Amino acid sequence: MIASDLATAVSHLRTLVDNASVIVPFTGAGISTECGIPDFRSPGGLWTKNQPIPFDAFVASQEMRDEAWRRRFSMEENFAKARPGRGHQALATFYRAGKSPALITQNIDNLHQSSGIAASDVIELHGNTTYAVCLDCAKRYELSWVREKFEAAGHVPECACGGYIKTATISFGQAMPADAMQRAEELTKSCDLFLAVGSSLVVWPAAGFPLMAKRNGASLVIINREPTEFDDLADLVVRNDIGDALNPFITG
Ligand code: NAD
Ligand code: ZN
Repeated sequence: MIASDLATAVSHLRTLVDNASVIVPFTGAGISTECGIPDFRSPGGLWTKNQPIPFDAFVASQEMRDEAWRRRFSMEENFAKARPGRGHQALATFYRAGKSPALITQNIDNLHQSSGIAASDVIELHGNTTYAVCLDCAKRYELSWVREKFEAAGHVPECACGGYIKTATISFGQAMPADAMQRAEELTKSCDLFLAVGSSLVVWPAAGFPLMAKRNGASLVIINREPTEFDDLADLVVRNDIGDALNPFITG
């Protein structure tokens, strides 16, 4: 059912949360828009400005690698000053209460970790943009180091091993992280309440998890201000602002 208004949404959600033993949140870019990080697909979202650079293009040319890094640096102010929003805080409340053992996210902004969820309990399907790695030897690099070298040389540095350095994110066309996918599947199958929050649910294979939860017998809640393809399957659809809908669940 689609909740007719905010109060109805909160009241239905409260009943589902109270009755659940294992809640698994699954989050997308919409949970972070109130933190100043634009999503991809809302009007004015990142998608309308720059099409993402696919993985093949990144490895194929220095020009594309430089462009990818230029875009990343131009976003740094947003990422660096972003703090967890009301949605993040509500999900951290479920975690602290022992209701959510871990959380699955498509986000790359590190805000769930900042909200107090242990890094080992944040399953990142699309990686993390707050640091970088060498694509060959997996050595970690800090963005400030990459930026310094970039500004001095006019192009992005390479690893000592000769590999390309990329933010630790998963680009379109790049292999999904096997371990995260495996853990996300196990978690999805372990829950009786699956909360999809702020995702357009069009990016695969990530979008398969709400479906998997439902097929496995869990209740499915979708909180997103725009309709998604899975709304018909959901036990509850909340089209209100995420912060407004989850604010009543924040404690502590
Ligand atoms: P998306 O941009 O495809 O969809 C976001 C959805 O959130 C939209 O349907 C929008 O209507 C909704 N939304 C935005 N703000 C909202 C609000 N305040 N209240 C209610 N709904 C709101 O995001 P996605 O499904 O996560 O897919 C985009 C991909 O891009 C992700 O896989 C992710 O890796 C990456 N991405 C991440 C970030 C981030 O880390 N914050 C930001 C942009 C893109
Ligand atoms: Zn290397």
